[in-house]
Amino acid sequence: MSSIASQSEKKRYTVTADIPNCCGYGLCSSLCPEVYRLDENGIVYLATDTIDESLFEAAQEGAESCPAEVLQVTLIEE
Ligand code: SF4
Repeated sequence: MSSIASQSEKKRYTVTADIPNCCGYGLCSSLCPEVYRLDENGIVYLATDTIDESLFEAAQEGAESCPAEVLQVTLIEE
């Protein structure tokens, strides 16, 4: 029964950005603008640092697209 309860709980993730290493390619924000935004210099900033499952796939895709490996999406263990 506890497995049913845990399946119904939404997973949450933290998003982090190693901003000094951002080179401004902008791939992340084109793939997931809900989380990744670019400032006036084309450098990434985070619209939010915590997401739920609804944004996970797009956020992960954006992180994996980053050629500078700036972005990380990490499951929050409850
Ligand atoms: S893809 Fe990477 S290098 Fe490009 S803007 Fe996003 S975080 Fe910066």
